[in-house]
Amino acid sequence: MSMNRRSAIKIGTVGVAAAVVAGTVSGCNGEASPAKAQTKSNTLGKHNVVIIGGGFGGLTVANNLMKKNKGLDVLVIEKRDTFMSCPVSNTYLGKLEGMNLGTFVFDYAQVVDKYGYKMLKSEVVSIDRANKTVTTAKGVVGYEILVLAPGIAYNYENQFPKWSKDKIAEVQRKAPAALIPGSEHVALERMLANMDDGNVVISVPSGKFRCPPAPFERACMIAAYMDKEDIKGKVIILNPKEKFAKYGAFMESFKDLYADRIVYMPNARVNDVDVDGKTVSFMQEVGTGKRDEDNDEITKTVQKTMSYEVLNLMPDNKANPVIEMASINTVPGSFHKVVMNGCSFKLLQIKMYMLLVML
Ligand SMILES: Cc1cc2nc3c(=O)[nH]c(=O)nc-3n(C[C@H](O)[C@H](O)[C@H](O)COP(=O)(O)OP(=O)(O)OC[C@H]3O[C@@H](n4cnc5c(N)ncnc54)[C@H](O)[C@@H]3O)c2cc1C
Repeated sequence: MSMNRRSAIKIGTVGVAAAVVAGTVSGCNGEASPAKAQTKSNTLGKHNVVIIGGGFGGLTVANNLMKKNKGLDVLVIEKRDTFMSCPVSNTYLGKLEGMNLGTFVFDYAQVVDKYGYKMLKSEVVSIDRANKTVTTAKGVVGYEILVLAPGIAYNYENQFPKWSKDKIAEVQRKAPAALIPGSEHVALERMLANMDDGNVVISVPSGKFRCPPAPFERACMIAAYMDKEDIKGKVIILNPKEKFAKYGAFMESFKDLYADRIVYMPNARVNDVDVDGKTVSFMQEVGTGKRDEDNDEITKTVQKTMSYEVLNLMPDNKANPVIEMASINTVPGSFHKVVMNGCSFKLLQIKMYMLLVML
C-alpha cells in the first residue's frame, strides 16, 4: 500500500490545497479589513499574482501559471530556505536503504530558474485585502490576485489548554510532531538514531489532520528500523479514535509484519507529557466486559501513564493563521475550518481552473 502511495507521488498526484483571493473581496462575500501591522517603509513592488506558501500547493499553482503564460509576474512568498516533501519523509525516519535528507529536501533555486517565477524568502505577518498588500518581515508586497497556500498549523492549545507557551515550545522541541515541513523531521530522526532500548510512542491528533495514514505508515517504518537495529522495545500508537484511514490494511500489516513490535491503542487521547521524566499521560476508553440492554459493551474512561524513550507527539491540527490574516472567516473550534460564506470550495476550484485557463 505504501509503495502505491509513493508511486502516485512520482507521477505528481500529490493532493494540493490552495485558495484564490482575487481583489478586495474574494467573490465569496469575504469582508476586507485593514492589515494589523502595515509597514509602508519598505515597499517591495507589485505583482500580478502573489502566492503565500512554497509547499506542494503554492509551487503547483506557480508552475502552472508560468506554463500558461510566461509573461506573468508571479511571486511566491515562503518563510523557509528549502523545500521539504513530507511524502517520502517517513522512509527517512525508518532509514530505508538509499533514503537520506537529499531524497526529500530541495533548494528553491532550481524551480525558480526552470519556471521563471520569483521567490521572496520571508514570513507573512499580515494581509490587507482592501489595499491588496501583503506585509512580510522584509516589507510590503502588492498584488492583483492573491493565492493562499500556507498549509496547516499545530493546535497544541486545543489539546493541552493548561500548557504554557514555554511548555508547548519545549514539548515541540523534545517530542517533535514532524507533520509540517522543517527541522522536526531531522530532530525526530536524530532521536531515533540515538535511542536506547525502550518504547517509541506515536500520538495521533484528534479531528481532521494532515495525511491521515501518515502516523500509521510512520509506525511501520520505525518498527522496521527497530527490528533492523535490534532495539528492544515497542512502537505504541495512541489514537483518539477507534479506527483510521486504511484501517484494515494497516491492521493486517501490523499483525503479519510487526506483531511483536507495534501495539495499537484505540480511543486513547494524550493529555499531558513530562519531557524530563519521559512519560506520557492519556485518557483511554476501555471495555468493562459488561453489556447494556442493547447488548453493547459498557465502556469506562481510565487515565493512564506510560514511559517512552522517543515520543512523536502529533498535536491537533488547524488551518494556518495566514487564512485568518486574510480576513477569511473560520469555524470556531479545533480545526478552524474555512467558512465559505455561500461560496463552496467547488466554486473556488472552478474559479481557480478558469483562472489557469484564461492566463
Ligand atoms: C509524514 C507525511 C507523509 C505524507 N505522505 C503523503 C503522500 O504520500 N501523498 C500525499 O498526497 N500527501 C502526503 N502527505 C500530505 C502532504 O505533505 C500535504 O498534503 C502537502 O504537503 C500540503 O501541501 P501545502 O502546500 O498545502 O502545505 P505545505 O507543504 O505545508 O506548505 C506550506 C508552506 O507555506 C509556508 N508558510 C506557512 N506560513 C507562512 C507564512 N506566514 N509566511 C510564509 N510562508 C509560510 C510553509 O513554510 C510551507 O512551506 C504527507 C504528509 C506527511 C506529514
